[in-house]
Amino acid sequence: MVIDADKCTGCQACVVACQSENNLALNEENRVIERRAKTWIRIERYWEGEWPNAKARFLPVLCQHCGNAPCETVCPVWATYHNPDGLNVQVYNRCIGTRFCANACPYSVRYFNFWEPEWPSPMDRQLNPDVTVRTKGIVEKCTFCIHRINRTKRQADRDGRPVADGEVEPACVQACPTTALVFGDLNDSDSKVSELSHSKRAYSLLDSLGTAPAITYLKKVDPSHVDEHEEHGH
Ligand code: SF4
Ligand code: SF4
Repeated sequence: MVIDADKCTGCQACVVACQSENNLALNEENRVIERRAKTWIRIERYWEGEWPNAKARFLPVLCQHCGNAPCETVCPVWATYHNPDGLNVQVYNRCIGTRFCANACPYSVRYFNFWEPEWPSPMDRQLNPDVTVRTKGIVEKCTFCIHRINRTKRQADRDGRPVADGEVEPACVQACPTTALVFGDLNDSDSKVSELSHSKRAYSLLDSLGTAPAITYLKKVDPSHVDEHEEHGH
């Protein structure tokens, strides 16, 4: 995935789309106060520059599907591993709830189910049948909407053709009104994500940790802050 931070307006459409696509329970006020709220994708806001020239910047953060994922090596029961497509996947019925993975993830994108998920009626009757509802005691996180990937692959198989670039759209990508999020196959050198990931504006989150994230961020270098960028990196 490629995320263009310069296009993100912080509207939260991706957050709402992910929440409803992936059967995440509502985050009621108490859950937020207790710091137990769950969102597989979150928008981090920070300020760039000083008043009166300060600008609000937004950064969508979700599982980076790391090539060297620290969450995978600490799981004692292989409930999280890399699949052949390069996704960091979670086997819910194998998870025993140690939360080692959540503690090992430097991006804080894994969430533990402290309660059974509940939805007020009639929302409990509009769950997505393609996505497993996670029970109390297990860990969950962004799947890159793997059910959509698998559905598209099955359709392409039936049609006897390869999956086209851009054909798979995770819910967050589909909902983004500014096309800040782009999804595709990084192993295909002709794909849009491959092209974008070689942009001069490209960087990875916490690159120095060696996690090899599968998400590339794009960020414009503001000429008025060029010295600051040179000094601190991205
Ligand atoms: S971002 Fe965290 S949860 Fe996702 S693969 Fe990397 S270490 Fe694992
Ligand atoms: S790819 Fe799917 S699961 Fe991951 S943040 Fe986007 S909508 Fe949520």
